[in-house]
Parts: sequence; C-alpha cells; structure tokens
Amino acid sequence: MPFVSINPTTEQVVHDYPVHTPAEVDQALKVAASAYQGWRAASFEERGEVMRRAAELLESEVPVVAELMTAEMGKTFAAAKGEAMKCAATMRYYAEHTESMLEEVTLPTSGRRSGVRFEPTGAIFAVMPWNFPLWQVVRMAVPTIMAGNVVLFKHAPNVPGCAKYLEDLFIRAGFGPGVLTTLFVEIDQVPAIIADPRVVGVTLTGSERAGRSIAELAGKNLKKCVLELGGSDPFVIARSADLDLAVPMAVTARIQNNGQACIAAKRFIVVRERSEEFKERFVAEMAAVRMGDPMDPATVLGPVVSKSQRDLLADQVTTSLAAGARALTGGVVPEGVGYFYPATVLVDVPADSRAGCEELFGPVAVVMVAESLPEAIERANATPWGLGGSIWATDEAEIDEGLAGLEVGTVFANAVVASMNELPFGGTKRSGIGRELSFLGAREFTNAKSFFVS
Ligand code: NAP
Repeated sequence: MPFVSINPTTEQVVHDYPVHTPAEVDQALKVAASAYQGWRAASFEERGEVMRRAAELLESEVPVVAELMTAEMGKTFAAAKGEAMKCAATMRYYAEHTESMLEEVTLPTSGRRSGVRFEPTGAIFAVMPWNFPLWQVVRMAVPTIMAGNVVLFKHAPNVPGCAKYLEDLFIRAGFGPGVLTTLFVEIDQVPAIIADPRVVGVTLTGSERAGRSIAELAGKNLKKCVLELGGSDPFVIARSADLDLAVPMAVTARIQNNGQACIAAKRFIVVRERSEEFKERFVAEMAAVRMGDPMDPATVLGPVVSKSQRDLLADQVTTSLAAGARALTGGVVPEGVGYFYPATVLVDVPADSRAGCEELFGPVAVVMVAESLPEAIERANATPWGLGGSIWATDEAEIDEGLAGLEVGTVFANAVVASMNELPFGGTKRSGIGRELSFLGAREFTNAKSFFVS
C-alpha cells in the first residue's frame, strides 16, 4: 500500500508516495550511518547554527506547511499555524540549550576527576503518529539531533506530505543527507529496521498496541526504547474551582486538534457541589462549538482524521448509549461529505462500557461526579493510563492535593495540559516509558558515560 493522504474534509486524495523498497531502506541506513560520523563530531555551536536556519525557513513557510497539515489530517488552519510556530520555537530553544543540558556532571569520588558525560550513540529509528504531523517528529528529533545523533522516521501513512516537508526542510537548512530521513515503510518492514545494527535506538509515539509491538522488537534486539502512548486524561474540578476559567478551558482541552490529542482531557470529574453548574455551562459551550471547514477562520472543530477513526468513535458512543450512558449534546454522525463528528458530552457512562474504559480519540467528553476531592482523584487514577491530568481549584490546599494525588507524567493546575520545551514530557503506567523534551529528553538517546580519573 502506498503512503496516501486523504483530505478528511473533502475525502479527496492529497498526496501519494510509493513505499520504499528494502534496497532503498538499506541505502537510507547507509547514508544515515555515514552522516552520523560527521554529525557527532560537529560542535554544539555548529549544530545550533543549522538548526536555527531550519527554524528561520520554517517560520517563513508557516502558511504553506499549515495548509498542508490541514489538508492531510484536518486540523484547523489556525491550529496548524500554531503547530508550525511551536516547532520553529523548539528548534531555536534546543539550538541554544542542548549544550548545557548535556554538560558533563561532576560526581565526587575517591578519584581526582569523576562524573558522567553524555555522548551521542548513533542512528535512532522513530515511528510517528499523524495527529501533530510536524510537532511529534520535531519534539523527538530536534533534541536527539542536537545531542549528536541522527534520526530516521516512519511517519503515519496518511501524512506523507508533512513527512517529506520535514526531511526537505532539514536538507534545505544545510543538515546534509542522512541527519533526518523519512522512510515510507510499512509495518512489516519495521522489524528488519529495528534489528539492523546501524540502528541503535527506537522510539514510538502512538497507540498502546503499536507500543507493545515496538517494545517487543526493541527488547528482542536489546535496543534502547522510548514510548509515548495514549491516555484518558482527567480534568478534575474541585470545590474551589473558578468555573469562569475552568468551563472554557474544559472545552478547549477536549476539542483541541479536533479531539485527537494524547493529552486532551477526556474525563471530566467534578465534585458534587459544583457538578450541576459545571454540567450546565459545559454542555452549553460544547453545543455551541462551531464545526466545519478547518480552513475557515470561524471554525473551531474540524473533521476527525479518517472514516475508520470516525466509525470507531461513533461505535464507542453508540454502544455506550445502549449500555445506559446519556448524551447531553452531540452523539450523532452528521450527514454529508467529510469525516465530521460533533462535540459530544456523555454522562452516566457505565465503567465497563466502551466510553467508560477506552480512549476516546475525538471530541467526546465523559463527565463524572464524585462526592469529594479524594474520591475524584481516586476515580481519575482508576485507569491503566497516566499521561497527563489537571486540577482546577483556587484553594492552594486543593491544588496541592491534585498535584500530589494524580498518577500521571504531567500535572497542571488551572491550565490545559501541554508539552513545553522546558519540561519533560511522557507518561507513567501504560502511557509510556521514558521522556521527551528538556534535559531528560535530550539525554534519552545518549550514552551516559561514567568516568573516573585516579
Ligand atoms: P497508531 O495506530 O499506533 O499509529 C502510530 C504509528 O505507529 C503509525 O506510524 C503506525 O503506522 C505505527 N504502527 C502501528 N502499529 C504498528 C506496529 N505494530 N509496528 C510498528 N508500527 C506500528 O496510533 P494513531 O492512531 O496514529 O495515534 C493515536 C494514538 O497515539 C492514541 O492512542 C494517542 O493517545 C497516541 N499518541 C500519544 C502521544 C504521546 O505523546 N504520548 C502523542 C500522540 C498520540 P501505520 O499507520 O502504518 O500502522
């Protein structure tokens, strides 16, 4: 199957690339291995200079690449422009800060000099999802490349134009062939790539199912592995919450990226004394969400990515309604062209229904009521995942209870969970292994080499 993108708004083909043959993959690995030898020897200053050029180029092309993202996977044009700008900012940030993140650490011992240094390791293979087609690759690849490694990535097959754009951008910026390479490969070609001795590490951002498969292959081949997987993030509303802030942020947290973000809030857990007010206001704002053409500046919610993704979401909702859940707004697939699904709010969701125990990758919110904040936190933690979570409160004690109690990789108070250059990003429990971004992300694919001078 070729790598084909279908515009989810128009259902028309956007781009179509042939799959790379095993010989082409072999050649790409050869080029990457050779590029690594030169790239690892470059100074941080030299690496940073090329990375800044990539940022500059990207900034000058924001509308063009944003339109491509919108065409390939349906996010709103405004969100796509924001994503491109965020990528450029990340390039600038790591161009400036990776050296200090990887600075040698002195650890006093009986020796004259001792500590740990962080050295590059080689070619890293990354498997990427479509939902943030530029950002997911940049988030992983920029710190990894600034650390002196090279990256080959298999993007999701429905965003090949974005994959190609990134590879070309790096070439045009002056990285030289092989520092960032896109591989148009299918899943059955992945085991051979991970087994190849020229690949020293592997990472996947995507579903749990894919994560298990990649982790198994990495384990079998004894390769370092980082996984960024799914979640069902809780949005916990405490007694002291400011609902003027929390309600609009709840809508944003659920429908951003057309509901398809790993760290989107998916479960809204509100203490009983605020539950009626929250539900009424949240449902009114979700019902008013403007769905339509993602290129239209007035649109807030575009289509979901594909027919199969919309069918899955519709099935998760319909079967949960049949099991006793109630839709306070939405829940019905609209007629017409495009893979649209409306902003939906479900209540009384049975824990064992699909909406009660599966990740909802689209604009569907589940609202639950708890008798107290400890109970809300207990329910928030009652999932196999632990990616992100937020606590909404004005009382400092309630904020601290949320920060301490939520079993997640990232917890925010009174703000929508987001990835930031300065903070590590990743999950606990079944949401992932390892971290991206910050000094932890920059170090993931380095060799932490201990040294001792007697
Ligand atoms: P997906 O089906 O797992 O696909 C992600 C990537 O993995 C694609 O390139 C896909 O390629 C590939 N893949 C799937 N199965 C594979 C296998 N057995 N071996 C090797 N590669 C495989 O996930 P998705 O539907 O695109 O993305 C949604 C999921 O990703 C959600 O669960 C979301 O929460 C999660 N996600 C997590 C993060 C994070 O940072 N934690 C960020 C974004 C998304 P094919 O399409 O060719 O199968």
